[in-house]
Amino acid sequence: MSSGAIPPAVWREFSPGDRIRPRRVLFARVTAVSHPDVANLAVSRGLQTIPAMDPRSNGMEHPLSNFEYRVGLGHDTHRLVTGRALIIGGVRIEFDRGLDGHSDADILLHAITDAVLGAAGLGDIGDAFPDTDPANKGLDSAIFLNAALDRVKGLGWSPVNLDCTIFAQRPKLVPYKSAIRGRVAELVGLPFESVNVKAKTGEKVGPIGREEAMSADAIVLLRRASS
Ligand SMILES: [Zn+2]
Repeated sequence: MSSGAIPPAVWREFSPGDRIRPRRVLFARVTAVSHPDVANLAVSRGLQTIPAMDPRSNGMEHPLSNFEYRVGLGHDTHRLVTGRALIIGGVRIEFDRGLDGHSDADILLHAITDAVLGAAGLGDIGDAFPDTDPANKGLDSAIFLNAALDRVKGLGWSPVNLDCTIFAQRPKLVPYKSAIRGRVAELVGLPFESVNVKAKTGEKVGPIGREEAMSADAIVLLRRASS
């Protein structure tokens, strides 16, 4: 069994004699531990493994995994113009143009904000932050994302992982991908490895390929404890 199959709430260091209570279903006294191979974990009612640790479980339906899950999708596009800073994922990118928009026009944070709101069924970024509102002019898009996260967390949701793609013909984003990933992880409150950032060109066709615009897609998974 790989440790990757073990839910974080259950996976921790155990010692002989520890009492464990995974998700209020099983209350077991640990009598033997072969760490990290918890398939050999023994409990007081005879040798048995904890079912939630079964690698065949997808974590969605098992009685020890009392979580609801929701997935959300986000997309955003902004035009490239001169005289604007280029900010993607909260990271300043060196380029001779930037993205036009009411706020700082951060395509990636806008797409992620929409994905977060969408997963919780809370509409989109335009509902929450209209571009007609002067208060949003020039705003750091991290503020939009933080506000969206506050709303979903208020409903009990928390992000599980995030994947996204940035579409830009130029500049090359490879040198920035790690910084963008780190900043997004920090903003969303996830470990670095739970956030993925991909970059694509427009293959020199369409508005992306002609360097008229950049866009971003994002998908996020939220979960909350079932009531
Ligand atoms: Zn936008």
